[in-house]
Amino acid sequence: MQFENTKAYAEELDRSSSVASQRDQFLIPKVHGEDSIYFCGNSLGVQPKAARKALETELKDWEELGVEGHFHGTNPWFGYHKFLAKNTAKIVGAKPIEVVVMNNLTVNLHLMMMSFYRPTKERYKIIMEGGAFPSDMYAMESQAKLHGFSYEDAVVEVLPREGEYALRTEDILKKIEEEGDAVALVMFSGVQYYTGQYFDIPTITKAAHAVGANCGWDLAHAAGNVELKLNEWGVDFAVWCSYKYLNSGPGSVSGVFVHEKHADSPELERCAGWWGHKEEVRFNMEKGFIPEQGAAGWQLSNAPIFTMAVHKVSLAMFAEIGMDKLAQKGLDLNAYMEYVIKDVESQNDKLEFEIITPALPERGCQLSLLTGSNGKELFDYLADKGVIADWRKPNVIRLATVPMYNTFMDVWNFGELLRKF
Ligand SMILES: *Cc1c(COP(=O)(O)O)cnc(C)c1O
Repeated sequence: MQFENTKAYAEELDRSSSVASQRDQFLIPKVHGEDSIYFCGNSLGVQPKAARKALETELKDWEELGVEGHFHGTNPWFGYHKFLAKNTAKIVGAKPIEVVVMNNLTVNLHLMMMSFYRPTKERYKIIMEGGAFPSDMYAMESQAKLHGFSYEDAVVEVLPREGEYALRTEDILKKIEEEGDAVALVMFSGVQYYTGQYFDIPTITKAAHAVGANCGWDLAHAAGNVELKLNEWGVDFAVWCSYKYLNSGPGSVSGVFVHEKHADSPELERCAGWWGHKEEVRFNMEKGFIPEQGAAGWQLSNAPIFTMAVHKVSLAMFAEIGMDKLAQKGLDLNAYMEYVIKDVESQNDKLEFEIITPALPERGCQLSLLTGSNGKELFDYLADKGVIADWRKPNVIRLATVPMYNTFMDVWNFGELLRKF
């Protein structure tokens, strides 16, 4: 596509885009009294206007019905997770039986590992990306220790080559093959939080299975960003949060995927709780855990209705547009962003950065800029001018052009701010 860095051109892109911006359905945070240029949806998505009403509905049911809300509420709380299954499945390319919304992300990562990381003396290694999100590193470390292994022994990190930032798929595959029979689990993030690299999920999953290992994915930065086909790709399990691209509010609930091939596997040990017990007999209050079929059988507790209410309205917005179309628009915005940034960089000597996010198909809508010596100064300048992005130590600015509410004009305006730095 031949882009132009002009206001008229950006306006035209917004007008002609195949997915109309849903910006007016959201509350965009303000800086100095004006709408910000919000490029931080990969960290915390903005508030859908529908969130307030959804919360008020549940508050009112609680007020008027008390405990009866479980069965007689507007959205009876007893089976609340089921209201989310269909639209959640669409986000990650799954069948409804393969997904459930519950708890928070890191909690779910541990729960999944209790089932899918069952190391033996011979097969105990976890292969993961170096420089992973800290919570994932700590989860792997503590899981290894829980099973009596040391971190150094059990966790094998794949690192970028000297002078590179992204991982090469061939290096990941080579590591899996090298470790072979010793690998119990291959566990990566879908989209890397720092570099924005979108890993080749089907190829890596296949390689893990070829050596007899399970393969799990942390999709915190992938869900709602890129198009996923977890069922088709044969992924064993995945977890993600709902407060980044999925706009469901700070600390909101997490999604879990367990492939249908594991739907009826009572031999898969798990941490059990009453909400994962077979629904028809849940209230018999008897001994002997019988898991509900599918991902729902990993539930522990009754549903946190308030966070799920927000998630429910947000998921409906995704379902209405379709993840394939949204992901494509995210890529279009991202491509325009790269073009505009490079254009202004060539005209302003004060700007020095390198885009460390790999090219398509290894990216979603995030762009990570490795800045030079004046990086923090640039970031602070942008923040003062109304750009909400994030700074990741030591020197990276992450920008996410979120297809739901960011516009081509956001990108153009951002370019003009860079020009004036
Ligand atoms: C955001 C993020 C988390 C956060 O975990 P919480 O349990 O929701 O606090 C974990 N892992 C990755 C890869 C993330 O990007």
